[in-house]
Amino acid sequence: MTIRIGVIGTGAIGREHIHRCDKVLQNSTVVAVNDINVEAVDQVVKEQKLKAKIYADGHELIKANDVDAVLVTAIGDKHEEFVLAALEAKKPVFCEKPMAPTAEACKHIVDAETKCGKRLVQVGFMRPFDLGYLALKKILDSKTLGEPLIVNCRHFNYTNVSYYTTDMAINDTFIHEIDVLRWLLGDDYESVQVFFPRRSCNSPEKVGDPQIVIVRTKKNVIVNAQLYVFTKYAYDVQCEVIGEHGIAALPEPVAIPVLKDGQISHPVLIDWKTRFIDAYDVELQAFVDNVSAGKFTVGASAWDGYAAAVAADACVRAQKSGKVETIEMPPKPSFYNK
Ligand code: NAP
Repeated sequence: MTIRIGVIGTGAIGREHIHRCDKVLQNSTVVAVNDINVEAVDQVVKEQKLKAKIYADGHELIKANDVDAVLVTAIGDKHEEFVLAALEAKKPVFCEKPMAPTAEACKHIVDAETKCGKRLVQVGFMRPFDLGYLALKKILDSKTLGEPLIVNCRHFNYTNVSYYTTDMAINDTFIHEIDVLRWLLGDDYESVQVFFPRRSCNSPEKVGDPQIVIVRTKKNVIVNAQLYVFTKYAYDVQCEVIGEHGIAALPEPVAIPVLKDGQISHPVLIDWKTRFIDAYDVELQAFVDNVSAGKFTVGASAWDGYAAAVAADACVRAQKSGKVETIEMPPKPSFYNK
């Protein structure tokens, strides 16, 4: 059975996912697209030679009879509105991260999904599908390193997004680490403090960049995460776990060293699109398969989206207060343990 997908938001990741769902994955096709940016939506239909209908209104797209499932890839503060509308229509929905920028907005989605009586939401946290993270988790779970003690993370972007704000470094960027480390460590979060070193001349005046986020987990692991969004030199994701008996870290992306003119060099990534390209494919295929099966068993749930937002809210409070902020994680409802 081919799943007919409608996509709301045809910006950077929307275009990537449209290509993926229409041309790469099995059993899926894109039949409907929407964006408030009319030029962007026209361009994607032409460039990707889509046989999709263009909708002027995302809500009309959700209601369309030939749309089996919805992808929400508009910017973060628009996600809640469209995910709630998809749930109202009882349609499966893949929502890019963050599920919504605040825990309060995410809770509305959790409540609406619970009311539906079945899981219909998958959130776009793709890192648990990445082969590097999967290999790292296997090592940690084997206990060969003993217990994890310290995690060093780096999340550097090469961006020129004009609407970026200081809190987006948390709820749009660091949210990836928040999600993946819960899964990787099998742990949850206790408290957080955020530090702002000297501001980079690359960063817009109003954005606090870089930032250092220190998170303490319930099992007393300390996460030291360096965030630098406007690097102008690399897209770089690192994760190193220091255990009682050894250290394990994410592998570097493949890059061929070239010896020439008296030096050895290799390219580094500057674009997020290629770093996790395989993980996006597996993640979206899982969504299509979940929809086909009529049961969501793989991928981040709305509860994962909410849990990440609870931690992100505390990080944003810590950005403002400069103090250690407690992360109060509510217990997971049985609905999400089924
Ligand atoms: P983007 O390039 O700015 O694209 C967002 C698109 O949504 C724009 O075309 C925008 O139009 C449109 N839009 C805004 N409001 C809308 C509305 N009410 N209805 C329909 N369309 C609307 O942003 P992006 O980089 O693709 O990011 C989109 C989402 O994906 C964000 O939540 C981001 O965090 C997430 N993302 C995830 C990953 C990942 O690794 N998983 C990577 C990148 C992005 P205008 O341009 O006119 O505003």
